[in-house]
Amino acid sequence: METERKLPDRTAGQEKTEEKSMAGNSATGNGAAREAALWERGVRRVVPYTPGEQPRQAGIIKLNTNECPYPPSPQVKRLAAEFETELLRLYPDPEASLLVKSIAKRFCVEEDQVFVGVGSDDVLAMAFLTFFNTGQPILFPDVTYSFYDVWAQLFGIPWRRPALDESFRLVKEDYLAPNGGIVIANPNAPTGICEPLSVIEEIVAKNPASLVIIDEAYVDFGGESAMPLVDKYENLLVVQTFSKSRAMAGMRVGFAVGSRKAIRYLRDVKFSFNSYTMDAPTIAWGAASMEDEAYFQETVGRVVETREYLKRELASLGFSFPDSRANFLFASHSHVPARELFEALKEAGIYVRYFPGGRTGNYLRITVGTPEQTESLLAFLKKYLEEKA
Ligand SMILES: *Cc1c(COP(=O)(O)O)cnc(C)c1O
Repeated sequence: METERKLPDRTAGQEKTEEKSMAGNSATGNGAAREAALWERGVRRVVPYTPGEQPRQAGIIKLNTNECPYPPSPQVKRLAAEFETELLRLYPDPEASLLVKSIAKRFCVEEDQVFVGVGSDDVLAMAFLTFFNTGQPILFPDVTYSFYDVWAQLFGIPWRRPALDESFRLVKEDYLAPNGGIVIANPNAPTGICEPLSVIEEIVAKNPASLVIIDEAYVDFGGESAMPLVDKYENLLVVQTFSKSRAMAGMRVGFAVGSRKAIRYLRDVKFSFNSYTMDAPTIAWGAASMEDEAYFQETVGRVVETREYLKRELASLGFSFPDSRANFLFASHSHVPARELFEALKEAGIYVRYFPGGRTGNYLRITVGTPEQTESLLAFLKKYLEEKA
């Protein structure tokens, strides 16, 4: 989920030229006016990531955080109903073996090529901490998941953000320069664009001195996964999540697949930090979800079908958007500003995501919901745009 936060003054080697408009906005909470006390000198200051809103009112159409509009696998429901709370007395399996096994089986890799965490945010944070430690700037695009620069800031990792081209495509050459690591969301957020595997492979192959993370949070909706490359490149880490395509954002499961060596490094750091991050129900229910391939295929198929319908209908209302391979569209209207639409939609109880300013300021990121939610969204937009015309 992307953020609207302001960047603080950056330290150590980060490019100060980018996001000039944001610089100078003190975001350290208490404001620049108040002087810091002595003890505050040692504080690890960071401007936290701002997640999308989670409104709890009934009747809201929630299309703002890319959750799945369908429930998790019925196998999860069955296990939840049968769950023995007695089990909670014990620490969970620190290896999360059941879950790791189910993931290894699904992707035809060995168990020691799988690392699991509390959502892919946890997995990504651990990977930043583990691998990005050279002092050289890491690279990720100017428009992408806005947690990357937060982790970089938290861990004191310098970074650079090469600009995507004018159609939000990755400029491969930017990633062939010396760097301290690379992170690419593919499909990207919030654009939905999927770069071909050949581009990803070239970046991985030409960076033997860097660990390359491919964040595949949305790959199940039609992207091309880099998973088949993990046995070929030791410096590749592919990260996925149960939060979008497996309808378990509330459960918090993410995982990485990579070389044995890379996974061993990740585990060493994780077990030096907190061994018991995956709780017992999550391990069991996560494994059940991973094993229900038929249900997964069915629900993902439904989301993709609705996405393609939404593309046609939004285009006929005057919207344009990159060709999304994710469960959202990044849409801009020919003459009505995104901010106005965002506010009107919210007023009507339809939540979408809006990232003010910069290159994203005239776009709405709209999660693909159920067919019924999609009809409500389209009916509202149609009426609103007609009344404006
Ligand atoms: C949603 C998302 C994540 C984080 O998902 P988790 O819920 O923490 O698994 C990571 N990367 C991208 C690009 C995302 O959109």
